[in-house]
Amino acid sequence: MSSSRYFTLKETRISNNCPECYSNDGIELTFKQKLTENSFYKAITADIINEMQCINCNTEIFPIQWTDDIESVVEYQKRALQPKPKSIKLKPLAWLIIIVDVLLLVGIILFSTGVLSF
Ligand SMILES: [Zn+2]
Repeated sequence: MSSSRYFTLKETRISNNCPECYSNDGIELTFKQKLTENSFYKAITADIINEMQCINCNTEIFPIQWTDDIESVVEYQKRALQPKPKSIKLKPLAWLIIIVDVLLLVGIILFSTGVLSF
């Protein structure tokens, strides 16, 4: 039961010409960072993707269509980007398992050293 999704890190309008409709005020560049989640934790990864779409002609612009100009703007934006630091947040279920494990371990140690006996 694990899922990953991307959250929007930055959305910016760039003034390059659209390879489809040649409009120069409709390209929107979006950077997204990956988040993975399962029952035990929620983690922000260092994985970043970008998406580009022209809101003028409603077309997604894939990297294969990028002109050199678009490419250098994307590079520039990428460098200016401040990604969220990688992090892991444990969920209550994970904490519960850790605590039960620790208690079990302490019990075993106490029992095997004879401190605890039944
Ligand atoms: Zn367009």
